[in-house]
Amino acid sequence: MWEVDPETKSKLALLQKRPGNSTCIDCSAPSPQWASPKFGTFICLTCAGLHRGLGVHISFVRSIQMDSFKPLELSRMDLGGNIAWREFWEGKSGQSWGRPGEGADGAAQGRLEERYGGDVGRSGEGEVGV
Ligand SMILES: [Zn+2]
Repeated sequence: MWEVDPETKSKLALLQKRPGNSTCIDCSAPSPQWASPKFGTFICLTCAGLHRGLGVHISFVRSIQMDSFKPLELSRMDLGGNIAWREFWEGKSGQSWGRPGEGADGAAQGRLEERYGGDVGRSGEGEVGV
């Protein structure tokens, strides 16, 4: 384990205060403590578990308290954010965002897989933010 850069930590704390970032993008739970740097989004513990289940080819998660972020990941969090990703996804897919984190784990995971692993998710990678 390495020490978490205090600058990274305070930057993430600031980003978390931005509109949209104070609730989980996937299920709207308050004060999400995890992030999916690939999409620049803040997510809760439960959804972080679901993201992990999707596999790293689709998403990976970092704890905003305990993990280090690479500079690129941090700038994705900065330039992206929950609202940016949601608007991007809705614009591309023509669907409303909804709350796919709700419901039984299996069903929620399937919806997340569609959301992040589908065409829109793949096109969003690298396009939102950086
Ligand atoms: Zn959540």
